[in-house]
Amino acid sequence: MLALIHCPSLPLLQYKSNPSLKVLVLNFLRPEIREQNMKVLNSIPLHALLVMQLFSGLALSQDFDFFYLVQQWPGSFCDTQKSCCYPTTGKPAADFGIHGLWPNYESGSYPSNCDPNNPFNPSETSDLKKSMQTNWPTLACPSNDGTEFWSHEWEKHGTCSESVLKQHDYFETALQLKAKVDLLGALKVAGVNPDGSSYSLKDIKDAIKAGTGYTPWIQCNTDPSGNSQLYQVYLCIDKTGSDLIECPVFPRGKCASEIEFPSF
Ligand code: AMP
Repeated sequence: MLALIHCPSLPLLQYKSNPSLKVLVLNFLRPEIREQNMKVLNSIPLHALLVMQLFSGLALSQDFDFFYLVQQWPGSFCDTQKSCCYPTTGKPAADFGIHGLWPNYESGSYPSNCDPNNPFNPSETSDLKKSMQTNWPTLACPSNDGTEFWSHEWEKHGTCSESVLKQHDYFETALQLKAKVDLLGALKVAGVNPDGSSYSLKDIKDAIKAGTGYTPWIQCNTDPSGNSQLYQVYLCIDKTGSDLIECPVFPRGKCASEIEFPSF
């Protein structure tokens, strides 16, 4: 059974009709469960295989529904008990940075780590590296050039949308979307500045809606004194990665009604 669940894109009937394919698939399994799987496969009646084939096809066409584009205020990532480390390329710009482009389901849940056979490969995105360093900066410790953060984002989230965006296109799409959405500009126009003072959550949401045309979801974190602060902004993107959409569902969690916007 394991072989069937792990390889939903392989036509099940071929397992029955093609012995070498059956062996190939079973070869991915640990030896102790290989024998057991071979027996299970041989014992499944043809009509049951047909039904399973149908469901595996449905699962494949429903791999996700939309993306969250998640942008982060670096001042809030750093202004915590844990603090942060600037990347080896230097202090990032005082602007929102990309955290990730996350495939999500309309139910509110999300797929993760979908393809262990497709790890992050820096050579596929070498033409984007400069732009990623500027727009998708790592702030994790110890200081590094960003490769660890991008690997994590690709492997946890990006691999779950690879039916739509291959590795290069996944990163390029996130960069293009960020370029379309000037969060800091939208906030500044409304008089919301990263100056360490507090603003109403409603004013922040209204400013982003006015600037982008879409309703954001705001995630807060807390500074070392326990004050709620503007941490991340979620906007929704259609399944192709092309256009902003109104979010079909928002994540859970709540900010205070007044939140700080720390400097960076
Ligand atoms: P995710 O698993 O995609 O939800 O992202 C959460 C992880 O990303 C946590 O381990 C965070 O510490 C890490 N993270 C968030 N922002 C950054 C950043 N700017 N640089 C490095 N790691 C980050």
